[in-house]
Amino acid sequence: MKLHPSTLVVHSGVEPEEHTGASSVPIFMGSTFHQKDIDTPQPFDYSRSGNPTRQAVEETIALLEGGTRGFAFASGIAAMSTCLGLFGAGDHLIATRDIYGGTYRLLDKVWSNFGVETTFVDATDIEAIRSAARPNTRGLVLETPSNPTLSITDLRACASLAKERGWLTIVDNTFMTPCLQKPLELGIDIVVHSATKFLGGHSDLIAGAIVVKDDKLGKRIGFLQNAFGAILSPHDSWLLLRGIKTLAVRMEVSQRGAAQVAEYLSGHPKVKRVYYPGLSSHRGQEIHRQQAKGAGAVLSFDLGGKDEVKKLFAHIKLPLVAVSLGGVESILSYPATMSHAAMEPAEREKRGIGPGLVRLSVGLENPDDLKADLEEALKAL
Ligand SMILES: *Cc1c(COP(=O)(O)O)cnc(C)c1O
Repeated sequence: MKLHPSTLVVHSGVEPEEHTGASSVPIFMGSTFHQKDIDTPQPFDYSRSGNPTRQAVEETIALLEGGTRGFAFASGIAAMSTCLGLFGAGDHLIATRDIYGGTYRLLDKVWSNFGVETTFVDATDIEAIRSAARPNTRGLVLETPSNPTLSITDLRACASLAKERGWLTIVDNTFMTPCLQKPLELGIDIVVHSATKFLGGHSDLIAGAIVVKDDKLGKRIGFLQNAFGAILSPHDSWLLLRGIKTLAVRMEVSQRGAAQVAEYLSGHPKVKRVYYPGLSSHRGQEIHRQQAKGAGAVLSFDLGGKDEVKKLFAHIKLPLVAVSLGGVESILSYPATMSHAAMEPAEREKRGIGPGLVRLSVGLENPDDLKADLEEALKAL
């Protein structure tokens, strides 16, 4: 039976507990497991290598993404680092230019020290990817919609180019979640998540995930997860599992709110520009529609300058002004000093991250309240 995401989030990977029938997966805190017979391997031996609570959340995420194996990590960046462990000295990668700041830092400042070179390109342009290719190119690191200008990369076209050249494709699916976009079904090899955001959904957890479909790739990631050891704890695995149960309804409500707020901001005289894949003015909207089920709950808008941003932040009441996104509460952030602080100002400008750019992750508040709050705060500009 092919189940919808809203059913899967509640039922996948979670059988009633074997011994007691408990509705919730127990938090198995054991670091190690008694081995009945040293010649016969048991499902679990040591919690870095595998833990029943972590396994439950890993299976859930794998099912949601349409993969065969899932892996849970201590953070989104731990997941990305582990994934990049697939590459080594002499390898070349091509990455989306406006990728998450922490991923940029990892590629530009850490992996570069191990002899892995990355070329950052405007991935909305498949020709730019093609011309960045080198004989030693091994992988493509993508994010769509990207952060924070929500530019759209054609995942099917990238997957097909990569297959032709024998490159591995990695997509950070944090902004969309499997409820709205399933990269593995579009031919992508590896999905990475910051589960800190929508998957966890309550701004009370740092976590990450990887999902793959291919068996051999699953074994390699499994090896790397154990080798690096940046695993998600049993307690946090349980918290993530609990968050995921409401993922589908949260995405639906937040997305509806985001569409209304984006529409409202587009008509506001003090707002210079709105970036949201659900607006007909958004570049790449058509491609996005072909590869995703919705525009998501994150939008960005430009107020012209930093002074305007400071005034808005001083007067806004409902959203948190914070790093992060994907929570039950709306979150306003300032990419220039928050998510993209790791990027040099010149690099930020190249990506359209000007001093007036603000990112808004819409939560579960009534959209009329959010609009009224913005209306009041924008009067101060
Ligand atoms: C937050 C974020 C990350 C990093 O995840 P952490 O859980 O903070 O380590 C990676 N990619 C995207 C798109 C993010 O928003």
